[in-house]
Amino acid sequence: MNIQKGDLVMVVKPTECCGLAVGLGAIFRVERTLSGRGNCGHCQKKLGAVSVAFGHKGTTVFPFRSLKKIDPPADGDSLPTRADIEVPA
Ligand SMILES: [Zn+2]
Repeated sequence: MNIQKGDLVMVVKPTECCGLAVGLGAIFRVERTLSGRGNCGHCQKKLGAVSVAFGHKGTTVFPFRSLKKIDPPADGDSLPTRADIEVPA
């Protein structure tokens, strides 16, 4: 998943290592991202290569794999379809 600065994301999964569910359902705007090797901030398990997103002035940190982007796509279901535009004669 590609999460970038400025994306609106929601925490949808507990941590995979220890099942920490704090913040589940929280929504925040990504202020910066960081990729590297790290440990879980809760159980200290080595996570290997991980990408994380920071929010709330750096007080919120979640790995990408716990997040879901909720920004609506620029194109998609919200655009009128051909069927909506055509007027039956
Ligand atoms: Zn953990």
